[in-house]
Amino acid sequence: MPELPEVEALAGFLSDRMTGHAIARILPVAVSVLKTYDPPPDALHGRTVTSVGRRGKFLVLTTDDGAGPYLAVHLARGGWLRWKDDLPATAPRPGKGPLALRLLMAEPEGAGFDLTEAGTQKRLAVHCVRDLQDVPGIARLGPEPLGPAFTREVFAALLSGERRRIKGVLRDQGVIAGVGNAYSDEVLHAARMSPYALAANLSEEEVSRLYEALRTTLQDAVERSRGLAAGDLKGEKKTGLRVHGRTGEPCPVCGDTIREVSFSDSSLQYCPTCQTGGKPLADRRMSRLLK
Ligand SMILES: [Zn+2]
Repeated sequence: MPELPEVEALAGFLSDRMTGHAIARILPVAVSVLKTYDPPPDALHGRTVTSVGRRGKFLVLTTDDGAGPYLAVHLARGGWLRWKDDLPATAPRPGKGPLALRLLMAEPEGAGFDLTEAGTQKRLAVHCVRDLQDVPGIARLGPEPLGPAFTREVFAALLSGERRRIKGVLRDQGVIAGVGNAYSDEVLHAARMSPYALAANLSEEEVSRLYEALRTTLQDAVERSRGLAAGDLKGEKKTGLRVHGRTGEPCPVCGDTIREVSFSDSSLQYCPTCQTGGKPLADRRMSRLLK
């Protein structure tokens, strides 16, 4: 799933191509992709894109300086965006294949993007709204972790009284916007902290360490992704990750073997030496595999 750094880069990539240009047509292909019906996507036809930005993991197209509808896209786990300069003008056929929605620009003619979704989960979501707060996933977002208002004190206040494990807190979009499963693993590794630590129990020093790791990890990933073409972002994300998705590989900091804990629909990765005092976290499936 694309997270804050990838969506930020995608917004920059699209901004270079779409800002100041009018949308010709929006063609929903998959039945489930459009989550709103009023205004209809036709309301965007002929509107000029005035900016392409990001809120949390949402990609946000503003039209006519906010006087026109917004288009908010959440790529979810299997969704992706492909920019093309030579899209056919005819409406694609619904049904088979990963194509979920096509957006065509009025000029340059034939330019635009396809939203695709792999797999069977179909959680890619497109919202056409007059007000961004009409998108429930945006209305509930916590603060942006790279924003100027996100100070150490703001972060500390979010964690105080929070009885959940820090891993779950970091990826809760209602607490902090834009951090998902991959970057929460990376941030905790950079902060040398157990994913199972209870948020409310962190010391002042640990909160500071985690705050620095959060800002630095995300900022570095944004810098690495900036300016990359949409098609190169997924590869860049994978290359830049130090523990996430690297079960069984050596930790780049200490050389210990990276381990994982698996859940029904996701898994987390961590380094025992760096993060849990050398002790593997309980996970029945992995302990059986590593015996
Ligand atoms: Zn390590």
